[in-house]
Amino acid sequence: MNGAPDSIGTTPPPCTGWQRALVVDDDDFSRRVASRSLRLAGLTRIEEADAAALALNRIAGGDAEPIDLVLCDLQMPSMDGIEFLRRLADLRFEGAIVLVSGADPTVLQVTEELARARRLNVLGVLEKPVRLAQLVQLLERRSATAVGARPAAVPGTDPVAQPTPTLDALRQAVAAGEIHAAYQAKVDVVSGRLCGVEVLARWTLPSGAAVAPDVFVPMAEADGLIDRLTDDLMGRVFAQMRDWSQRRIVEHVAVNVAMASLCRLDFPDRVLALTTQHGIDPATLTLEVTESQLMDDVVACADSLLRLRLRGIGLAIDDFGTRYASLAQLRALPFTELKIDRSFVHGAATDVRARAILESSVALGRALGMTVVAEGVEDDVDWQRIVKLGCQVAQGYFIARPLAAEPFERWAKARRG
Ligand code: C2E
Ligand code: CA
Ligand code: CA
Repeated sequence: MNGAPDSIGTTPPPCTGWQRALVVDDDDFSRRVASRSLRLAGLTRIEEADAAALALNRIAGGDAEPIDLVLCDLQMPSMDGIEFLRRLADLRFEGAIVLVSGADPTVLQVTEELARARRLNVLGVLEKPVRLAQLVQLLERRSATAVGARPAAVPGTDPVAQPTPTLDALRQAVAAGEIHAAYQAKVDVVSGRLCGVEVLARWTLPSGAAVAPDVFVPMAEADGLIDRLTDDLMGRVFAQMRDWSQRRIVEHVAVNVAMASLCRLDFPDRVLALTTQHGIDPATLTLEVTESQLMDDVVACADSLLRLRLRGIGLAIDDFGTRYASLAQLRALPFTELKIDRSFVHGAATDVRARAILESSVALGRALGMTVVAEGVEDDVDWQRIVKLGCQVAQGYFIARPLAAEPFERWAKARRG
């Protein structure tokens, strides 16, 4: 930014005390306008990211100085602001957030409420282009908010701090088969019996620190590594499943798949080849696709989805409720399972709207003949509620955390008695 005088630059810098701000916007011009406004508002350390995935990596980074203010555009191409906010909530980001958008005010308001329901510290929303006076007004709210007013986190000791892996490290880890599987139990709500496992990718750095899949999966997707990662993981998981299935530990497995992988024309053949190679019945496999990705290119992927279904492979819509799958899409696409996002399942205890979404999602899934899975069942209150609502399958810390193969097997045997 050059030092050209600005008509509003005469305003004395009113907002001090911020550590480091991050402006997230894919549009170069808007990003510069926002950065400039922040500078004029008195902030000195400002970083920019032109994509949400980059911003998440930066925020999750344990070594870099923490970000305590995020200015975020809601309309971004690869990962939009809504998804970005959800991921910030998953990272338990405690800094302040200002939402910026050209969208209509209702969208802004609902987004703000949703973000607050996820315990994000939203200072408010600004319409584009960002105006200095309004920005200053929002930044001044900070002193009134407990979270924003807390001292900056100490790098490396903050609970949200996570290692920032480099792309090279990820490439090497994928090539060396170091991405391993954790298994989380899925239980039948009526009988309480173990009815399947979900595979969750895990990556532990040589230092012993774990990198969250919310960080490395988007990196792998952006770099085109995700197919290899998923194929390798499936290969190893299927070998494990064959053993477990023969010993009647558990027979059904769910694997998370990026929409980009699923859309590849050779994907169904690759999956089926792996099931044959490992002696797995395709009917014991479910592929989970997040609702947010589903919306991106659903028609292009209909071929793959249908071919997988024709071979008996189950298809789940993951994180249901966080985006906007239309009723027509739900009816038209061959999904077999609806996994209701954990923010509505556990959130139902404290939030009336989360409860309403949970209830109507269960009813919708059941009416469409899908298996309804509640994820994020964290306590007995959650469990009782989903039993009453008629969810068929449950998953969450109340039942079991994601576990490595051996502890999972011990857990499964103990549960069976
Ligand atoms: P997901 O598919 O929705 O997986 C469930 C996430 O919720 C997991 O986070 C799990 O550890 C966490 N979880 C399970 N029960 C509870 C609970 O009761 N409370 C709370 N608060 N959390 C719970 P994780 O392992 O960090 O994975 C995050 C996301 O990363 C996954 O969300 C999935 O979208 C993605 N992911 C993980 N593995 C893979 C993979 O192999 N491929 C792809 N494409 N995505 C993956
Ligand atoms: Ca999943
Ligand atoms: Ca999920």
